[in-house]
Order: sequence, then structure tokens, then C-alpha cells
Amino acid sequence: MSASFRYRPETRLVHAGSLRSQFGETSESIFLTQGFVYDSAEQCEGRFTGADAGFQYSRFANPTVDMFERRMAAFEGAETARATATGMAAVTVALMGQLRAGDHVVASKAMFGSCRYIVEDYLPRFGVASTLVDGTDLDQWRAAVRPNTKVFFFESPTNPTLEVIDIAAVAEIAHDAGATLTVDNVFATPIWQSPLALGADCVVYSATKHIDGQGRCLGGVVLGSEKFIIDNIQMPFRQTGPALSPFNAWVLLKGLETLAVRVERQTRTAAAVTAALDGHKKIKRLIYPGRPDHPQAEVIKRQMKGGSTLVAFEIDGDKAAAFRFLNGLELVRISNNLGDAKSLVCHPATTTHQRLAQAARDELGISDGVIRFSAGLEHQDDLIEDILQALEKV
Ligand SMILES: *Cc1c(COP(=O)(O)O)cnc(C)c1O
Repeated sequence: MSASFRYRPETRLVHAGSLRSQFGETSESIFLTQGFVYDSAEQCEGRFTGADAGFQYSRFANPTVDMFERRMAAFEGAETARATATGMAAVTVALMGQLRAGDHVVASKAMFGSCRYIVEDYLPRFGVASTLVDGTDLDQWRAAVRPNTKVFFFESPTNPTLEVIDIAAVAEIAHDAGATLTVDNVFATPIWQSPLALGADCVVYSATKHIDGQGRCLGGVVLGSEKFIIDNIQMPFRQTGPALSPFNAWVLLKGLETLAVRVERQTRTAAAVTAALDGHKKIKRLIYPGRPDHPQAEVIKRQMKGGSTLVAFEIDGDKAAAFRFLNGLELVRISNNLGDAKSLVCHPATTTHQRLAQAARDELGISDGVIRFSAGLEHQDDLIEDILQALEKV
């Protein structure tokens, strides 16, 4: 893998991690196999002791999955990676792998709904307590530390209101407390933000989003140093079975080849949509990382290389007004997914965040007027025209 690091990031997305077979294929092969056969009993024994490097069983590792893991690690600047069947499998194995009964987690309140379920409802079943904080307030992270705090966890920018959390500052607070920091980097994408370089110990992705980017398959990945992965992730990953299918690993490998091109274009489009909505009479709040009026503009300048493929805005009105907008769209589709080639909108209050109580939604600024827009690969002017005509129906 070290050779991959000679090249610039975009080049690594195309070439890193390739394992070419004896046939010399151009495109990576799909190794749809559960297991592997051995030349001898001795070789088989060696695979199990680790003396013989090679594959044993696709729950542990598989050549196509391995290529995806190596390419992700080379791009992220991580020593190693483990690919999972979904983003939530990555989050679950990353957190549970680090935690034991009696430990404590500090996490940011503004989180993807399923991540919040893991921290608030699932971990406590196994004796792991948690404290949720406003992630943008560093004093709250400091105040939440207990003697048994082991893990800090957050996503940035957050879903759906695109708040940005200072990764370097929170990493320092975590490390001073003897804890580790895990960052869910889905919204930023590996193109615009590198949490490991900013001090995080572990990065997780839902590869379902921009990495596939074409709405085809689910996937996830956990990245970190060799030591972090071996000490925390390796055994739970192998024994509990969240492994990624080799077919989906291949789809995601192909997704990585075009990731930079797609994310750069989608980010330009999201910025253009934001500019077109600026000052619109039916919008009372417009949130886009990269705009000078973003509440964490200064943090964004320091930690992100680009804006976002997502825009959040609040329609001046109630749920019925938001629904009139959504139903008025002709090109942009209603979906809870994001990062896709097709532009998508979602109404977080009635979908991704409907499980939260009204008070919790209010605290996160997710009113009934909030809309999340995910820019696709269509021509930006078609998208802007569609959004503006739908706003007329509000
Ligand atoms: C989608 C998403 C996940 C979960 O990923 P799946 O692939 O759907 O399991 C986790 N975190 C964030 C921020 C997401 O957007």
C-alpha cells in the first residue's frame, strides 16, 4: 500500500489498492467467493496462525473487499480500514469495539437518527452510559467528561442543519480526558475533510452516500491506525459478522474512481442553489457551509477544504407549507437518501428525525419548515428553476 501514497489523492482514488490477477484485467475483479482453498494442510495451518499471508474466509477478508479497504485507507491517509455492510454496521462496530460495560460516551446531540439510537438507547443496554452535548460548544464537551469516559463521538457537518464541530479542539479535549475521538465523516466526504489528520482516532463512513453516489448499494467503512483497528475493531469485526459483500465492494471501488469529480461538481451545484435562494421571500433561514454567514464559518475555514453537497433551508411556514414545496418539485425527487447522482430533498421533521420528541427537534433547530437538499449531477440551472417554481407553490 505504501506505493499508493506516492501519488496525489485523486490518483489514489483510481489506482490505490488494486490487486490484479494473472489475467491482467483493467477493471478490478469481483471475487464472489465465500472461502478459499489451500495447496496443503501446512499452508492451511499457516493461514490460521498468520504465518502465511492470504485469505481464509470472506467474513474476515476477501480480495475485492480488500481492494476497497486499501483504496479508502490510501485516500483517507489511514493506516488501515475495515469495510462493513452498511454505514450503521461501521458505527456500531467502531463504538462497541471500543467500549465495555461501565464506560461512558460523550456525543453530540445533532446526529443521524440511527447513530443517536445507538448512543442513547442501545449502548445503555450493555451498561455504557452517555451524555449528549451541543457539539459546537467546547465547554459542554469538557463539562461532560467523567472518570470513565472512553469515547467521544460526533458527525460534522451535522444532519440536517449542517452545524460544524471543531475536530481538532474536541480531539484535544478527548485526549486530555484519556478518551478517543470517532468522527462520522459522511456529510463532509473524504474529499473535503480529513478527521484523522485533525487528531481523530477513528473515522467512519456510510459508503451508501457519496462513495457509491449512484443509489445502488449499501456499505460502510471504519478507518484508523493499524494499532487502533487491531486493538479495538479486528476481533469484533471478524467474530460478529458485519462484513461487506464482495459485489458491493466492487460497486464502491468503482464509485471511488469518480468520487472527487462527483463531489466537486455537486458542491459547486449546492453553492449555486444556495446563491439562488439567498434573500428569497419564502425562506427564513439558509444554511450552507462555505457561506460567510454560517455560524461556524471560522472553523470551516480551518478544517474543511470545500463546502458541502448539501444545503439546508427553512421555509417560512408550517408542515403544510413545506409539503406544498416538496410536492411542487418536478425534477428533484423526495428521498431520505443523500449524496446521489439524482438531486434529492427530504423533510427531516417527518422522516429522519421523526423519532425525536418535539422538544429535541426544537433544540436542534429542526422545525417543520426545514428542508434538506442534496445536490446531484443534473445541470444546476434545471435544479434552480425547479426549486424556484416549487417555492411559488408554498
Ligand atoms: C446514512 C448515514 C449513516 C448510516 O449509513 P447506512 O449506510 O444507511 O447504514 C450514518 N451516519 C450518517 C451521517 C449518515 O448520513
